[in-house]
Amino acid sequence: MHLKHMTMSQFNNMENINGVIIPIGSTEAHGPHCPYGTDFLIPEEISNRLASLRSDLLIAPTINYGASWNLGFFPGTINISSETLTKYLVEIGSGFLKWSIDNIVIMNGHGGNNPAIRIAAQHLADKGAKVLVIDWWLDYQEEILEICTTKGHAGEDETSVMLAIDDTLVDMSLSLSNPNIPIGKVYTSKISNKVLENAMTGDATKATREKGEKVLSLVVAKIGELLDKYFAGIYTEKK
Ligand SMILES: [Zn+2]
Repeated sequence: MHLKHMTMSQFNNMENINGVIIPIGSTEAHGPHCPYGTDFLIPEEISNRLASLRSDLLIAPTINYGASWNLGFFPGTINISSETLTKYLVEIGSGFLKWSIDNIVIMNGHGGNNPAIRIAAQHLADKGAKVLVIDWWLDYQEEILEICTTKGHAGEDETSVMLAIDDTLVDMSLSLSNPNIPIGKVYTSKISNKVLENAMTGDATKATREKGEKVLSLVVAKIGELLDKYFAGIYTEKK
C-alpha cells in the first residue's frame, strides 16, 4: 500500500500493516549515461516490488534529495547537508511513530546518505522505533558480484539495474569506465574530480538489462526474507 495514493479513511482502516518502508536516494549526477534520479528510482522500484508481493507494508513517499557533498562538483547535483537530512529523517520517522507505526525500514539507494541515516536511526530508536536500514548495493554485494563483475557509482551494477527499471532513461552509447580509485579516505574539495571522474566509478560499459533484472530479483528476495525476521522481532542470529 502506498501512502501517497491512500485516503485518510483508508489509513484509519488499515489492518495487518507490519511496518513502513521509506525509500530514500539523491538527486545527483550519475555519469553521462544514467539519470539524476538513479539513487531514488532504484529503492523505489525495490519497495514497489516488495509491496506487490506482500500486503503488510506501507510504502511512504520517497525522499528524492540526499547528501551528495562529494558529487556537488558536477552540474545538476543538489546537495542536502547530512545535518539537515538527519533532522528531516528523524521528523519523518517520528511522524510514523506518532501514528503507531514503529517498524521503520529506511530503503536507501545512496552511499552519501549513510552518516545521516545512521544518526537518525539512533535518535528514532531512542524514541521507541525499531529501525531497519537497507543499503541494497552494499548489503548484498557478494551476491551481486556473482551477477556483475564490477561495482560503482553509475557503474556496472547500478547501470544494469537502471536498464532493468527503464532502459529509455539510460544512454549506453555514453557509458564509460573509470579506473581511478582513492588511496584512502581522503577528504578534499578536489577529490571528486578524479575519483568520481565524469561523475561515475567502476565500469558501466559492462551493464546489461538482464544483469539488472537478476540483481533486482535477488535483492527483492533477500529483503523479503530479512523483513520476515525483522517483523517477527528476530534481530540476531548465530553465524
Ligand atoms: Zn547511485
